[in-house]
Amino acid sequence: MSNRTLSMDDRLYEYMLDVSVNESELLRELREETAASVEFSVMQISPEQGQFMTLLMRLIGAKKAIELGTYTGYSSICIAEGMPDDAELICCDITEQWVAVAQKYWAKAGLQDKIDLRIRPALETLEDLLAQGRAGEFDFVFIDADKQNYQNYYELALKLLRTGGLIAIDNTLWSGAVADPDNDEPGTRAIRKMNQLLKLDTRVEKCMLPIGDGLSFAMKNF
Ligand code: CA
Repeated sequence: MSNRTLSMDDRLYEYMLDVSVNESELLRELREETAASVEFSVMQISPEQGQFMTLLMRLIGAKKAIELGTYTGYSSICIAEGMPDDAELICCDITEQWVAVAQKYWAKAGLQDKIDLRIRPALETLEDLLAQGRAGEFDFVFIDADKQNYQNYYELALKLLRTGGLIAIDNTLWSGAVADPDNDEPGTRAIRKMNQLLKLDTRVEKCMLPIGDGLSFAMKNF
């Protein structure tokens, strides 16, 4: 028994996947295609994180969501599958080569009508949504794009969310580098700043889960 989160070795991790994760054939195919043919395949979220995000969408009854950093589409499929048929998921990315893979799998999964892809810097898409009067409309925002802009994404996401809406921020444990005093990489510094901001932010209720590469949550309470 333990009163702290377990560290997981490979054997225990495999066991957890075996008894808890039901990755669909389509998602497995997407994972394999990404690993085999697309650069930076470690950027894809883990299957247990994907399954958790589908469940989370159902739990919060999400109908309008935004994803910042779509890559080859794994997380967008998990988010969209947890939302009803008339839901809206706005996906933001700037790399056409990556989202071409995502688009192929959205079509295979029959999710293309739920997903609105915006290929341009995510900050511009968020500013546009605000300019269109969509503040306070969204149930969920997944922040997983360039780490340097995390704080900017966070502030805009808070404006776009309804009261009680949820932000999920990916990679907040950054392979452990955030706790390494010798690591001063720009990405590490950006994640540390985001984590500190969240720690002190009284506008939200928050929680960090050691799932995948660290996933933090902020629920808008104003
Ligand atoms: Ca990520």
